[in-house]
Amino acid sequence: MCGECEKNVLRFETTAVHGDKGFDPLTGSISFPIYQTATFKHGGLNESTGYDYSRLQNPTREEVESTVAKLEGAKWGIGFSTGVAAITAIINLFKAGDHIIVSDDLYGGTFRLFRDIYEPFGIQHTFVDTTDLKDVINNIKENTKAIFIETPSNPMMKVADIKAIVEIAKEKGLKVIVDNTFLTPYFQKPLSLGADIVVHSGTKFLGGHNDTLAGFIATNDEEIDEKLRFYHKSTGATLSPFDSWLLLRGIKTLHIRMEKSQENAIKIAEFLKKHPKIEEVFYVGLPESKGYEISKKQATGFGAMISFKVKNVEDVAKVLKKVKVITFAESLGGVESLITYPQTQTHAEVPDEIKEKLGVTKTLLRLSVGIENVNDLIEDLEYALG
Ligand SMILES: *Cc1c(COP(=O)(O)O)cnc(C)c1O
Repeated sequence: MCGECEKNVLRFETTAVHGDKGFDPLTGSISFPIYQTATFKHGGLNESTGYDYSRLQNPTREEVESTVAKLEGAKWGIGFSTGVAAITAIINLFKAGDHIIVSDDLYGGTFRLFRDIYEPFGIQHTFVDTTDLKDVINNIKENTKAIFIETPSNPMMKVADIKAIVEIAKEKGLKVIVDNTFLTPYFQKPLSLGADIVVHSGTKFLGGHNDTLAGFIATNDEEIDEKLRFYHKSTGATLSPFDSWLLLRGIKTLHIRMEKSQENAIKIAEFLKKHPKIEEVFYVGLPESKGYEISKKQATGFGAMISFKVKNVEDVAKVLKKVKVITFAESLGGVESLITYPQTQTHAEVPDEIKEKLGVTKTLLRLSVGIENVNDLIEDLEYALG
């Protein structure tokens, strides 16, 4: 609470640092306690503190859920054990015979969920280039119920116009779901652009330290929230108390980390662009990038994810072997810079012809820029490419 603040609403950075409640109401503890318990004592018949069993309610999880909700400008947030568990919950809002339009360039695990888990259950999907509004409109069918977009997309950094897609969706009564993992609410708030549901891999920038897995959903739609909560407690992929605390801890520095890693990313993108062994750089923050203008309109930053193509495929193995400061590992969004080979890692599941069509070629590498000294990162890339 802040009596003096504009509209009595705290600004982003303050909410990130303080969390929702700001302290433990029971003890005053500034670090929100880890309520590491499976269950809660009842005083007597029909008596409850409001907490019964940690799969249903847990104070630490509730604190991180409401913190993420506040940061996204949402009324409700739900914490899952992983990002894919959160996406799974969302797909379960639909039933056999429903059809969902899904961004064609997206996290490989999301691709796998739609194609390998839910298609056999009768939930249909079409992978569409959601940066092409005509393509979106042309793929809406009688039974289409939702549009699922990841923007900027993984790994090609394509930017979908969230507001324009919301307009198309509203006209047809479709829900819009946005995977906001890459930009986080610090840079992009899809609900304020009209989206119905935001989903996160909290493993990435929200957690920020490559030390745990988490997933979040945020929404302002009460009916959706209730359905998701029911699914959450019934199927059980809930965020543990300790992981909730790690997320609260990580979120305290979200704004600082996002600023620093973006600052580093801009410099690295410029460096890569000029490097003779680099064919092409995909970074939303480059003014010549296709998504640059839309990004400026709908987000307050470009993030810290860069993909690039080397000219010679032999350089891929060389770079991955030679990097010393940057680590060759899957995942993204942590304080440590990581380099990934989408072809065999994040996008291993995607069929070769689709990968080729998207541009996920054998020469493509993806870089998650951390908060190290940027000169060390650039020198590392220079050495590895050299
Ligand atoms: C990593 C990732 C996911 C999946 O999250 P997990 O926490 O690994 O389950 C979903 N979407 C995007 C954009 C991701 O990067």
